Amino acid sequence: MNFELNLIENSYDYIKETLYYYKKIGYNESHDEDRNSIEEKRKWKTTFILLVQAIELLLKEALFRINENLIYENIDEKISDRARTIRYSKSIARLQNLKPKLFSQNETDLLVTCGNIRNNFIHFKVNANSIEIKRKYCKLFELYIKLHYRIFHQKYQNEEYKYVIENILHNAKDFEVFRGMEFTKKQLKQFKEDIAENQYYSYILTKDNKAYMRIKYGDEEKFYNFKFNTNDSYYSINCKYCGDCGAKKGEIHLDGCDWEMCPICGHQLLSCDCEWNEYVSDDYLFENDVKDIVDYELFI
Ligand SMILES: [Zn+2]
Ligand SMILES: [Zn+2]
Repeated sequence: MNFELNLIENSYDYIKETLYYYKKIGYNESHDEDRNSIEEKRKWKTTFILLVQAIELLLKEALFRINENLIYENIDEKISDRARTIRYSKSIARLQNLKPKLFSQNETDLLVTCGNIRNNFIHFKVNANSIEIKRKYCKLFELYIKLHYRIFHQKYQNEEYKYVIENILHNAKDFEVFRGMEFTKKQLKQFKEDIAENQYYSYILTKDNKAYMRIKYGDEEKFYNFKFNTNDSYYSINCKYCGDCGAKKGEIHLDGCDWEMCPICGHQLLSCDCEWNEYVSDDYLFENDVKDIVDYELFI
């Protein structure tokens, strides 16, 4: 079966492919090595290359629309000899000369940088960071959408990947990574406040008025030593950050975290049968009459 694609159809094909990959790896991604395999992160390479490929064809389409000969590297050769189509970097320079308003200096820089990254991915050793690749990818995708509009005066539409595109465009504007987790600026501010405030609530209070010190992330083994005089039965966790709430070692988990251990029985606090009322602070213990305080840290 033969098939023929013009420049823009070919570009759309690469866009679909890159969106297919992004959907697999880019949604609510985490960026620390404990929660991801290198195998997963490697997929960023293909995802990125496909997007640059799509942009390259879009740039050629823009040249083609000015004059179809402009998609060739050397426009002075005889038409029959013009086998080589224009290189990516040269198409940017040619468009800058012929259509100076098509992209700004910042956009030009982004196009050039992403082209270099693509070349490195294809031709050299790869040394990449998933946060930086994703940041550039989302910006470049946003530029694809803008250029598409500037060239065709029509928005790029794709019903199948509508939500994926929304996610990318959102990330292009507001994308923060903290402790390997993705946030918007607002979410990150809230997260930092929540974590800081939560550190004061270092006890749980039972119905019969006993206070148990909450087990900080990373202290599970110490707690087992204290509670059962052994750590044999404890499967130690070696992740830098809590896989559920993002607490770092030595911090108290956020409320409702499914990795928090119960300081009464040693099982998962979220699901054990111990009866307790609330999280309380040091100040609470100081100001109120509590029957007993069980503090695993004191026994270490
Ligand atoms: Zn946690
Ligand atoms: Zn319990």
